[in-house]
Amino acid sequence: MDLYEYQAKHLFGKHGVPVTAGEVCTTPDAAHEATRKIGSAVVVKAQVKVGGRGKAGGVKLATNPMDAKGKATDILGMDIKGHTVYKVLVTEASDIAEEYYVSFLLDRANRSFLAMASVAGGVDIEEVAATRPDELAMIRVDALEGCTPEKAREIVEAAGFPEATRAQIEEILQKLWRVLVEEDATLVEVNPLVLTPTGTVLALDGKVTLDDNAHYRHASHADFVDRDNTDPIELRAKEFDLNYVKLEGEVGIVGNGAGLVMSTLDVVAYAGEEFGGIRPANFLDIGGGASADVMANGLDIVLNDPEVEAVFVNVFGGITSCDAVANEAARLPNRRQQRS
Ligand code: GDP
Ligand code: MN
Repeated sequence: MDLYEYQAKHLFGKHGVPVTAGEVCTTPDAAHEATRKIGSAVVVKAQVKVGGRGKAGGVKLATNPMDAKGKATDILGMDIKGHTVYKVLVTEASDIAEEYYVSFLLDRANRSFLAMASVAGGVDIEEVAATRPDELAMIRVDALEGCTPEKAREIVEAAGFPEATRAQIEEILQKLWRVLVEEDATLVEVNPLVLTPTGTVLALDGKVTLDDNAHYRHASHADFVDRDNTDPIELRAKEFDLNYVKLEGEVGIVGNGAGLVMSTLDVVAYAGEEFGGIRPANFLDIGGGASADVMANGLDIVLNDPEVEAVFVNVFGGITSCDAVANEAARLPNRRQQRS
């Protein structure tokens, strides 16, 4: 799960990474009030899970509460690369002397972790990697050793951060590593990490991707789930622990095994072409060895989709008991009546 900037910064703060004070707001009036409380110039920042908000006009400076209210009015409801802005982060504005980049990420290809750091921050890091690769340091971090003080120094030296900033950035790197490990993240990125004119280094932006497979270890992460922006049927499916993805068709699909379900989607879509473009309504994998209960929950989910006109069940017998599945499917007409 990708986090919003304000959520990422919440985790940064928890682990001692320096961030500016701020408040997340859903209305212009709330932005006014937040700015009044902060008592200085602020930055009003669109909260969307996509980069390049600055360039798209989603990050704006405001000098006083009225100004912040106006900027929030402009930004709320804005569309940034297909993402509607429902929330803004109102945060204390910082003066910037320099903008850097640092991140830790899971490097699947090398079965390791990778630290990336650059003095050329603030801009699109893919562009730095493509046009000025010598300005992007990439250092392998062993999963068991982690970001030790020695490793942090190695990263800072490879990136060539100015001497006066090194001690602070080494400290920040070790704390960001703790965010990655203790919160079970697969990506922790700060762009920009800024140096202020008074010599302080702080994280002005934050991007964190949490490992969903470790979700059960973090009760507090449940608050990060974006209920407003998630399809309600998908949310319900998650509660049942089902692998369900809503699509835009009319034929509900229930199958076992991701491969079988995907090929069923293809078959239904191809066959549907002859009938005016009938399409599969969802992906639902009830898994191997599914019980009647799982089948029942799956059918509930599929039939709760008002677009669904028919259900195609494709369950491969073997580890799944087909009679249990068939018995649930046979009760299908009742379920449809319950729905209507
Ligand atoms: P992104 O465009 O989605 O990556 O959003 P960022 O949070 O990184 O903001 C984009 C840019 O806005 C940064 O690179 C900064 O140049 C600028 N910016 C963000 N916060 C501040 C701030 O507090 N003060 C100043 N002067 N500029 C800021
Ligand atoms: Mn950024």
